[in-house]
Amino acid sequence: MAHSSKAFKGDKKMYEQNFYNLEYNELKKHLSEFNLSEKAASMRANQIWKFVYKKGVGNPDNFINLPLELINKIKTKIDFNKISIEEKKASRDGTIKWLFKLNDGNLIETVYIPFGKTGTLCVSSQVGCTLNCKFCHTGTQMIVKNLETTEIIQQVLLAKDELTDWSKEKKIRNIVYMGMGEPLYNFNNVKKSIEILKNVDGLEFGPKRITISTAGIVPEILSASKEIKTCLAVSLHAPTDEIREKIMPINKKYKLKALIDSCRKYAEMNKEKIFLEYVLLKDINDTKYCAQKLIKLMGGFPCKLNLIEFNVWPGAGFEPSSKEKVSEFYNTIKESGHVVTLRKSKGNDILGACGQLKTESKKISKKLDN
Ligand code: SAH
Repeated sequence: MAHSSKAFKGDKKMYEQNFYNLEYNELKKHLSEFNLSEKAASMRANQIWKFVYKKGVGNPDNFINLPLELINKIKTKIDFNKISIEEKKASRDGTIKWLFKLNDGNLIETVYIPFGKTGTLCVSSQVGCTLNCKFCHTGTQMIVKNLETTEIIQQVLLAKDELTDWSKEKKIRNIVYMGMGEPLYNFNNVKKSIEILKNVDGLEFGPKRITISTAGIVPEILSASKEIKTCLAVSLHAPTDEIREKIMPINKKYKLKALIDSCRKYAEMNKEKIFLEYVLLKDINDTKYCAQKLIKLMGGFPCKLNLIEFNVWPGAGFEPSSKEKVSEFYNTIKESGHVVTLRKSKGNDILGACGQLKTESKKISKKLDN
């Protein structure tokens, strides 16, 4: 093989780029550096992009119709290797959870949640999380790092490979950034991954099919309203500062009033209702008082409520609300005229539901700079 010496460091290959980190225009630019005219680079970028993101062909040797010389250049300079599957668990209800091993050894989790023949893929944006929400399993794990764009994109590609989801009739219809981590604390890489997901010559996930879920990082919500423009879910979980602060320390930094203002602005910009996520915790946030406060809060901006059953994990220190409490809470909101859904937790038997993801990654550093 015609590798340049620059591409090697000892036995380990040193690539200039990882393919799945590249936006379409960046790929084009790279190709134009391979002595291709602008027009040829454009055509080749389009072909390669379609191979990788439309057909699921990740090995440059299989880029048929491309000149061999170009394939060899690409192979030398651009890394197409993917992360690996460390473990896979399938739940009785069809939910699948993968534990992926990054090239640096860290482990992350990705979950496919089916609804009939199609489903939603829940991706991670960080290894671990700094937020420390008291009811969240990931919060017990110290942060290790922000995921790179490539590591986010590869979760989608590997899930598609695993589900043989490369035909026109997509199985994965929606992508939610609701796995491990706080996506808005990894703003740039998440933003770039969304650009790649949206590209119509590739994976073609429209902005309405992508949802970012945040615990409420107010300044980043405002930036996201201008720069990311997907659907937004906010993990609310309590209707007053007092209660929210007890279960979500981030509320000490960004109070509900500021959070709601930012949501209002986001909804104005994107003309979409904000999803409010609300995990019902026994005797914490499931009272009549909370339901009434929540109704008032929901009157302030276009939103819909997603009530979620608490997924118990060993040592959680919280219990799920009783069936009666859940339906009472649900009915109170419904009768007020607001849109409310009740999400049954899925993948219980594999600890697979979003927000319940925890891997035994090494606790190297406690905090990223945020
Ligand atoms: N940091 C982001 C995304 C990750 S958490 C956020 O806070 O939105 C994804 C969702 O799962 C959040 O709404 C989170 O509050 C919720 N969640 C966390 N732990 C849970 C549990 N044990 N049961 C049910 N939902 C949980």
